[in-house]
Amino acid sequence: MKHIIIASNNKHKLKEINTILDNYKLLTLNDIGFYDDIIEDGETFEENALIKATTIRKYIEGTEYSQYPIIADDSGLSVDALNSAPGIFSARYSGQGDEGNRQKLLKELEGVTDRKAHFYCCMAISLPNGETTTRLGKTEGTITTEKIGDESFGYDCLFMSTPLNKTFGEATEEEKNSVSHRYYALLEVKKFLAEIEY
Ligand code: IMP
Repeated sequence: MKHIIIASNNKHKLKEINTILDNYKLLTLNDIGFYDDIIEDGETFEENALIKATTIRKYIEGTEYSQYPIIADDSGLSVDALNSAPGIFSARYSGQGDEGNRQKLLKELEGVTDRKAHFYCCMAISLPNGETTTRLGKTEGTITTEKIGDESFGYDCLFMSTPLNKTFGEATEEEKNSVSHRYYALLEVKKFLAEIEY
């Protein structure tokens, strides 16, 4: 089985990625021994995903892992009425973790009727020869006025998915994986990987 390095240790993301890239053996950052924090100081999802991918490419230079592609993602929630915030700052919106982020989002949207939002996911691919490319996925929804469903990951319980007509917090894994921003980005990544030799 071909190997790919996934620049993440987030178990929700890894599970989702594993389901879609089911014909590859995925290596995580733990597997390759990378434990540093990567400073994501880009201004777009794309720039941040590329920063992650190229940082890991440098780290594995000259090791047994250098023959594998790397996939790094940056994702987040963009809310129309908030000028696309929290966007690239989704993980650190409140500075107080997921629950703080959800509370802040609900507060910012108090009394706001236009609650349209999108999740975006940019996947950067770094190839063994150093070339990079990116693929973007997005999914549509609205922000609820209270939490509905499982609170375990990010903004899931506040995101009413338009295609599913339920929040990502209520959706089963299979349902979420069939319409998620990561799914759409990964489909494109899968297509790209199938067409290259490595
Ligand atoms: P990243 O790990 O830098 O991509 O940060 C993404 C942040 O956006 C996460 O910490 C979550 O707050 C949010 N996010 C991204 N994708 C999802 C999702 O599928 N569900 C809920 N929140 C998400």
